Amino acid sequence: MTAVRKLWPLLVATMQYDKSLSLRHQPHGETVEAPVLAYLIETGNGRILYDVGCDYAKLAEAARYYDPAHFPFGPPVITEEQRIEARLARLGLTPADIDVAFLGHLHFDHAGGIGAFGGCEVHVQRAELDAALSGADGGVFLDELAGHAGWQVKSGEYSLVDGVDAIATPGHSAGHMSLRIVLPTGAPVLLCGDAADLTENLDREIAPGLLWRGVPDADGVAPIAEAEAERTALASIRKLKALAADDGAELWPNHDFGFYRRMQCRCPFPAHHA
Ligand SMILES: [Zn+2]
Repeated sequence: MTAVRKLWPLLVATMQYDKSLSLRHQPHGETVEAPVLAYLIETGNGRILYDVGCDYAKLAEAARYYDPAHFPFGPPVITEEQRIEARLARLGLTPADIDVAFLGHLHFDHAGGIGAFGGCEVHVQRAELDAALSGADGGVFLDELAGHAGWQVKSGEYSLVDGVDAIATPGHSAGHMSLRIVLPTGAPVLLCGDAADLTENLDREIAPGLLWRGVPDADGVAPIAEAEAERTALASIRKLKALAADDGAELWPNHDFGFYRRMQCRCPFPAHHA
C-alpha cells in the first residue's frame, strides 16, 4: 500500500554552469542550463517537500553571496513565478501547508529556501549536517543552517510514510539522500537528487563532478581520496539503478532540462507541473 496521492515537480530556479560539475571527467568548456527542482508529494498522511530550492533573498545581494570565483556563471535565476511560495500558491497552498521538508542534501540550490518553512518538520541526515556545519562543503551557505537546532536529524534509511522511503546515496555530499516514491498508479519514482544530475550520469555510470572529500586537515589535505570519493558516488548511482531494475521504478535525474521537458510531455497527472 502507498499513502501517496500525487507528485509534482516544481521548477523553482534555473542555473548555468560548466557541464563538468555534473559529469566527472567531462572536458571543461560546455555550459549547460539546469533546472532547480523541488518535489511536492501529497500523501494521505501529510505533504512532503523533497528539497526547497534556493534562497530568493540572496539574489538582492548577489555580489556578496555569488562570488564570481566560485560562481563564474553568476547566481541562479529565480523568476517571480518560480519562487517556491508562488509555486505552492498555484496549487492553493502556502508553506504552512507543508508537513515535512525533506532535505536530500544541504547545498544552496536544495536547502536555501528552508527559511520559508519554519513551521514544518525538517529532515536531514546527521552526516550531511555535520559536514555542512564543518564549513568544508563549498556548496553550503552556512547562514541557511540557522534553524538546524530544530531539525530532525536522521541516521540512515527510513520510511517517511507508506510509499515514501529515504534512500542513502552519498558521494556528491556526505549524507546525500534520494527518495523512492510509490505512486497510486504506474511505476514508482526514484528522485535521484544530485546523486545523478543528468540522464548521462545514470546511463554511462559517471559520478558527479562535485564530490565530498571530508574536512581537510591543517595543511588543507582532504582525508577522502578522490578515487574513493568517486567510488562512493558511483556505488550510489549503481544502487539507484539496481533499485529501479527490481521493480521497474523510473529514475528521475535532478538537474537535467532535457529530461524535465520530456517528463512534462508524458505526465500522467494533470496538475503535475502546475
Ligand atoms: Zn543541485
